[in-house]
Amino acid sequence: MPVAKEMSAPQKALLKMGLARDIDLALHLPLRYEDETRIVQLRDAREGETVQIEAMVTHSEIAFRPRRQLLVTVDDGSDTCQLRFLNFYPSQQKALAVGARLRIRGELKGGFLGWQMVHPTCRSASGELPGALTPVYPTVASLPQAYLRKAVLGGLGRADLSDSFPADVPYSIGREPPWNLPKALSFLHQPAPDVSLAALEDRSHPAWQRLKAEELLAQQLSQLQSKRERAMLRAPALLAEQGGLQEQLLAALPFQLTPAQRRVCEEIARDLGREVPMHRLLQGDVGSGKTVVAALAAAVSIDAGWQCALMAPTEILAEQHFRKLIGWLEPLLAPRGLRVAWLTGSQKKKERTQMLELVASGEAALVVGTHAVIQEQVRFKALALAVIDEQHRFGVAQRLALRSKMQPVAGAQREPHLLMMSATPIPRTLAMSYYADLDVSTLDELPPGRTPVVTKLVADSRRDEVTERIRAQLAQGRQVYWVCPLIEESEALDLTNATATHEALSAALPGVMVGLLHSRMPVAEKKTVMALFNGGQMGVLVSTTVIEVGVDVPNASLMVIEHAERFGLSQLHQLRGRVGRGAAASACVLLYAAGDNGRLGETARARLKAMAETADGFEIARRDLDIRGPGEFLGARQSGAPLLRFADLATDGHLLEWARALAPAMLDEHPELARKHTARWLGGKSEFLKA
Ligand code: ADP
Ligand code: MG
Repeated sequence: MPVAKEMSAPQKALLKMGLARDIDLALHLPLRYEDETRIVQLRDAREGETVQIEAMVTHSEIAFRPRRQLLVTVDDGSDTCQLRFLNFYPSQQKALAVGARLRIRGELKGGFLGWQMVHPTCRSASGELPGALTPVYPTVASLPQAYLRKAVLGGLGRADLSDSFPADVPYSIGREPPWNLPKALSFLHQPAPDVSLAALEDRSHPAWQRLKAEELLAQQLSQLQSKRERAMLRAPALLAEQGGLQEQLLAALPFQLTPAQRRVCEEIARDLGREVPMHRLLQGDVGSGKTVVAALAAAVSIDAGWQCALMAPTEILAEQHFRKLIGWLEPLLAPRGLRVAWLTGSQKKKERTQMLELVASGEAALVVGTHAVIQEQVRFKALALAVIDEQHRFGVAQRLALRSKMQPVAGAQREPHLLMMSATPIPRTLAMSYYADLDVSTLDELPPGRTPVVTKLVADSRRDEVTERIRAQLAQGRQVYWVCPLIEESEALDLTNATATHEALSAALPGVMVGLLHSRMPVAEKKTVMALFNGGQMGVLVSTTVIEVGVDVPNASLMVIEHAERFGLSQLHQLRGRVGRGAAASACVLLYAAGDNGRLGETARARLKAMAETADGFEIARRDLDIRGPGEFLGARQSGAPLLRFADLATDGHLLEWARALAPAMLDEHPELARKHTARWLGGKSEFLKA
C-alpha cells in the first residue's frame, strides 16, 4: 500500500489559502509586478527608489551595536552601497562573502554613510535578466514567492480553461475584441516583454474585464441557482382572512400604517400566500416601523392556525419586541385560547419548561426570544413563519437552524416562510450582487410626527457644555441617553469608562436619577434599570452599547455618544435613531477625542462627517460602503459570502448588469456550461447565502 507522503509546509500553505485545484492556482492573480528586467547604476539611482543593481561584495562583517546585524558593502563600479540584515542565516552570510557578484534588489535609502538597503533580496549575478515584468503573488510567510510562482504556472498549464460562456450569447462587454480566459490569464501571469506596468495594472484592460465578467457571472449563477432550488421547496400557503386577526390588529393599533408600511405588508402577504417559502429582507431605517409589519405577518400565520417565531440578537431587544407584541396581540389572542411565549438564555428553569410546553403544544401562537429560540429542546407544533430581526447580526448557521424548526407535516417536508429585518439598508449594487437571491422590501419613509435629529460634533474638552444641554432637556421633562464605547480588547476598561461617566453625571446632576446599564450586569438588574427609564422616572441612562438596537422611549430627546470616533458608522446611525421618536426636537451629540498625535484618524473623520451631514439611512449605508469596502460592510465572515476578488462594484456596474441578464438564460439553455462555470469559480464554495 502506498504510504501517504507528509505534506511540506508550502503545500500545506497552498491548501490553507484555498489553492487546492489547478484552476484555483490559475485564478490566483498577481498582487503587483516587479521590474527585474533592468540593472540600475547606483550613480543614476534616486533615493527611495526600488532598484535592481549588480555589484561585488567588498566588505562583510557582523556588527553588534546597536544590535547584532550583518553589514555588507557592495560596489557596482559607479558607487558603493551598504546592505543591512537584522535577521540572517549562516548560509546567507556565506553567500554574501567578499568577492561574490550579486544581483540585488531593494529600496535605496540615502544616509550619512551613503547608500543603504535594508533586507534586500540578493541572488547570484549569473544567468540572464528576465525579459519581462515579474509577477508578485499574494502569499503567506510559509509560502515563498518562487514556490508559489511555480505552482501557479503549473496550475495554469494544467487547468481546463476552455470557454464556459455559451457561444451563442456573445460576450461583448468592455473593449473589443473580447479576450478569452487563457489569453487573459497568461497576459497577467506571464507578461510579455513589451507589456508595461500600466497595462497590467489597468483594471479596464480586456484581460481584467474578462476575469471580472467571469467572476460576476459565477456569483449570479450560483445565487440564481439557490433561488430556484428554494422555489422547489414547499411552505404552507397563508392567506389573510376577512375580518381575521390581521384586520383586528390593524383596527386596534393606535396609529395608521404609513403608505410604505402598507406596501411592504402587501409584498409580504403575496409571498405568504404562495406555497413557496418566502425569503425576504425587510429593510428600513431605524424607527421606520418594522416591528408592526412583522406583527401583521404573524397575525396572518396565526389566523391560519400556525405558529410564528421572532428572534432578536440581544435580550433587551427581544424583550422590547415581546412587550410590544404582547400589548398588540395578546388581547386578540386570549379569546382564542392562544398566547405569546418568551424564550431566552437567562430564563429560570421552571419558566423555561413552561414556555417550551406552550411552544410544543401550539398554545403559544407567537414565540419571541433570543438565540434560545433555535436551541435543540425547542419544538414547535407547527411553525410557518420565522422572523429574524437585525439579521446581519446572525450567522448563516443560525438562520438555517431557525428554518429547520419546521416539523414535517403530513409526511411532506415543508419549510417556514422567512422574513429577515435590517436597519442597515444595502446599497443597490450590493443588493444586486451579494443578495441577488433575496427578495427585498424597503420601508422608505418614517411614520409621521418625527422631528429630524440635529447632530452636533463636540470635542471632548467641551464636555461641560454637554452637561448644560442635558440639564436643559431634563428641565423640559425630557430624557437623555449617554452611550460609552465598547472597547473590544478590554471589557474592564469599557466598564471603567461607563462607570466614571455615570459617577460624574450623577454628581453634576443632583436630584436626577442617573442609571447605568452595561453588558456584564445581571439580567434582573438590567431589567430594573430599563423599566425605570421606560417609565420616565430615570432622567439619564448611561450605558455601553447594549442599547444599540431596538430601545424605544419616545420621550428621550438627547443622545450623547462618548468617543464617537470609535464607533462604526452604521452603529452611530442606529444609536442616533434612539431619539427623535416623539414630537420633541431632538439632538445627537457626538463627543470625540483626538488620538495621541492630536488628530482624528482619516476614517474616523469621514464617519463623523457623514453623521453630521446626513440622517438618511441609505446615504449613510452608501458612505459606509465607501469607507469600509464591501468585505467589512457585509461582515463577510458572518454571512459566509465569498467576496468578489476582482470585480469592484463601484466601477463594474456594467459587468454586473451583463451577468445578471445572462445568468437566467444560461441556466435555462446551457445548464452544463453553467455548472462548469460555477464549479470553476466557486468550487465547493457555492453553498453561500442559502439561508
Ligand atoms: P424599527 O423599524 O427601527 O424596528 P419600530 O418598529 O421599533 O422601528 O418602530 C418605531 C416606533 O414607531 C415604535 O414606537 C412603533 O410603535 C412606532 N410606529 C410604527 N409604525 C408607526 C406608524 N405608522 N405611525 C406611528 N408610529 C408608528
Ligand atoms: Mg427594530
